[in-house]
Amino acid sequence: MPRHDFAQLLFGGPCNLRCRDCVGRALAWEVPDTLGAWPPPGLLRFGARLRAEGLRELSLSGVNTDPLLYRHLGRLLGWLRAEHPGVRLSLHTNGRLLLARRAELEGLTRLSLSVPSLRPATCLALTGSPEVLDLPALVRAALVPVKVSVLLGPENRAELPELLERARAAGVRRVALRQRVGARDAYDPLPAHRPVGLFAGNPVYDLDGLEVSVWDFARTTLRALSLLPDGRLEDGYLLPGLRAAA
Ligand code: SF4
Repeated sequence: MPRHDFAQLLFGGPCNLRCRDCVGRALAWEVPDTLGAWPPPGLLRFGARLRAEGLRELSLSGVNTDPLLYRHLGRLLGWLRAEHPGVRLSLHTNGRLLLARRAELEGLTRLSLSVPSLRPATCLALTGSPEVLDLPALVRAALVPVKVSVLLGPENRAELPELLERARAAGVRRVALRQRVGARDAYDPLPAHRPVGLFAGNPVYDLDGLEVSVWDFARTTLRALSLLPDGRLEDGYLLPGLRAAA
């Protein structure tokens, strides 16, 4: 049986953003809507694999939607805490519903927040919404460490120094800069800096106490056990059926 570094439970359904680079739009299979499903399809088999492999890290995320749109989130977190008490739970979100649903997030140990930009015009271009996250308020509300995740593109390239400084000022200590899958216009976002180490094949930088990693999905060595919205269990880091990016 293959070993995995972490597990991820992925929801499917309509999203509250329309991101231009959403991987959910690049899939060669139809993603079912599981936002109202209890339990999520395949949950018991997934839980059995977590236990069998002794996995200690579980991330909740979405294929084409945001996990904070899942209607039974509090119930799911309670079930996971009861059935898998030693597993650390994290959630990867666009943050739009974080303040509204934070009371249901008991048991989370980490939160990953997608922040493509802190400028309205860039947010509009990348997400379909000009709304800018109030990062300091979200970091305070989260009550657990927040990692900021930035999908790199030509639109936010010039803003990166400002974005990193504003993340630091908001109390963020870790940032992941992510290359788009298959992007032909990928660039080195930190050309003036030298990495201090590697994590899962990706360089890690120390920018005066702010830990910044630069993720390229093609070189990452992490292995995930993924529960897909249709109940399939998949090995690997990238989603199955992902068409090459333009
Ligand atoms: S927030 Fe995430 S799931 Fe929703 S459209 Fe954007 S990339 Fe896709």
